[in-house]
Amino acid sequence: PAQTDGIFKVMLVGESGVGKSTLAGTFGGLQGDSAHEPENSEDTYERRIVVDKEEVTLVVYDIWEQGDAGGWLRDHCLQTGDAFLIVFSVTDRRSFSKVPETLLRLRAGRPHHDLPVILVGNKSDLARSREVSLEEGRHLAGTLSCKHIETSAALHHNTRELFEGAVRQIRLRRGRN
Ligand code: GDP
Ligand code: MG
Repeated sequence: PAQTDGIFKVMLVGESGVGKSTLAGTFGGLQGDSAHEPENSEDTYERRIVVDKEEVTLVVYDIWEQGDAGGWLRDHCLQTGDAFLIVFSVTDRRSFSKVPETLLRLRAGRPHHDLPVILVGNKSDLARSREVSLEEGRHLAGTLSCKHIETSAALHHNTRELFEGAVRQIRLRRGRN
């Protein structure tokens, strides 16, 4: 049935320069069913991947920045996503400080849904320019009731775990419906 083996859509959101497109690119390169090419190599990546022994079609959208704050494209993103990855850079405190506002916006767009949201602290490889600690990221995620992970898109650290985590979050919610 479509409910369980349909397409899972994941939206990358967050400020410019935090690494959304680089994360999307690592997903595009993940091992999957090679018969399926990315739907659009620019901003949308579709792959079939196996998570917990079950295959799923995951589509990752990197289109957030094409829309204006308050514009129709952002609204479209909000309505389309099954899960949202709010990305900030651990080397950019400003991108971290925008997270609560972005999450409020996501939840306001889908008030009756328990939206799967993962807070992603990217660029964890840049230890010497770090401005946001692991603990701060975790604490904010706890406060906002969302999951948290640190990634390095540059080193492909935790990137597979991130997308697998998104699939698990969506499955958990669907199982409940
Ligand atoms: P976007 O604006 O959110 O799409 O960010 P981009 O993916 O374009 O990345 C912005 C810059 O950060 C680029 O120069 C990337 O190469 C770099 N970058 C992205 N992710 C990482 C990371 O995990 N580590 C490091 N060191 N650089 C990264
Ligand atoms: Mg980008």
